[in-house]
Amino acid sequence: MNSQVVDELDIVPEVRHTDPERLRWLVPEVSAATDRLLSFQPTDERAATASIAQHFASLRKALWTSPHMISRLRACGLSPDDLQGPDDLHHFPTLSRTEWGNAWRDLPIHPPEPLWVAVPSSGSTGAPVQVVKSAFDQVHMWAVLDFLIVRRQLTRSTQVALLCTLPSGMEYDAALPMFHEGHLHRISTQRARPWERLAALPNPILFTDPAGLHWLLAQSPLRPTLVLSSASHLSPSVRQASEAHFQCPVVDYYATTEVGAIAATCGEQRLHVLAPEVFVESIEGELVVSRLRSSAIPILRYRTGDSGRVAWISCRCGQNGWVIADFSGRHACWFTNPAGAQIDAWQLAWLFKHHALTDFRVTQDSTSQFTIELVGTAKPNLQEHLYEALFRMGWVSPSLSFHTCEAIPRSGSKASPFRTMVSPPSP
Ligand SMILES: [Zn+2]
Repeated sequence: MNSQVVDELDIVPEVRHTDPERLRWLVPEVSAATDRLLSFQPTDERAATASIAQHFASLRKALWTSPHMISRLRACGLSPDDLQGPDDLHHFPTLSRTEWGNAWRDLPIHPPEPLWVAVPSSGSTGAPVQVVKSAFDQVHMWAVLDFLIVRRQLTRSTQVALLCTLPSGMEYDAALPMFHEGHLHRISTQRARPWERLAALPNPILFTDPAGLHWLLAQSPLRPTLVLSSASHLSPSVRQASEAHFQCPVVDYYATTEVGAIAATCGEQRLHVLAPEVFVESIEGELVVSRLRSSAIPILRYRTGDSGRVAWISCRCGQNGWVIADFSGRHACWFTNPAGAQIDAWQLAWLFKHHALTDFRVTQDSTSQFTIELVGTAKPNLQEHLYEALFRMGWVSPSLSFHTCEAIPRSGSKASPFRTMVSPPSP
């Protein structure tokens, strides 16, 4: 831990020390996951469907010991042994977020294992559900990262930075035995000298989200090896600006707390499914995921609430595989400014992270009129900061109407914190 970290403002220091040896035993399992991802290179979809069938074995085995899933399947007259590959999936029931929320204690396999943890899913995607994670679930992302580095033929750095803009200000350092004896530095923009501490790391791999990218774009450039963004909508303009700023690839990856990593973009900006770790279907436009790797919870046809289509492509990046097209899981929203320019509304998201809010929604009602609905307590400076941000984005005198409410109505299971009632200008 950086002993020079000084607490700023009213943030309570929160420091976690991780014993690296605790997870060292997982190194072979992480390495095997990387190998699975790298060696899954079918020539066409028929070969891929045949090849991925063998990876259904661990899901099938896990289903037998999940009390909820076994009774759910029996009620449908099904046995886990009926699931031999992707062609069988359509016979099986899907799992909704509501069902998960109600049955989460009975979803995991039995018996429970040491080092399991239960974490709530992100509150930004609707009512959180409890997610039980095995030790391997907690480190699987390192296998995905290694896969992305090898696939993109990047020089591997063992210094990994996680830049966080959340108001908690949590920071920690941890050894990463499962990532080539690397080191993880979680750095908060809420604490002193975040840029200086990032810049001290030699060509790190940098994890952040679009709010972090906006923050970094306002600083002097860093020289990371690779930047990964997730959690909320990354607009093409912010990605392009970030690639120019850092002079390295920016990968947008799709992950959920429930499932873990599901897909990641290639250099052609195609969102490749991380097969054979997961198998993704699109049912009436909704992405439905089955998790094939071993884990605490056998995930069979989980309805993510995210939208997209699954297609097979021979991508110009050199990968043949399933990609997610028309992905709108994170609800892209474009506001139209008085000059008629389309502005990515998610650029405002970071403003709301520094307030004690359970939920919020910003609606553009007309060109210069916005309604802001808040659940929870915002600091008094929110209005001023939002006004300033909109001014910088082209609104000379935006009109802001604030309302506090008990809950924000939703049309689906996912939150849509930004929406617009203004039609975009005709091309
Ligand atoms: Zn590609």
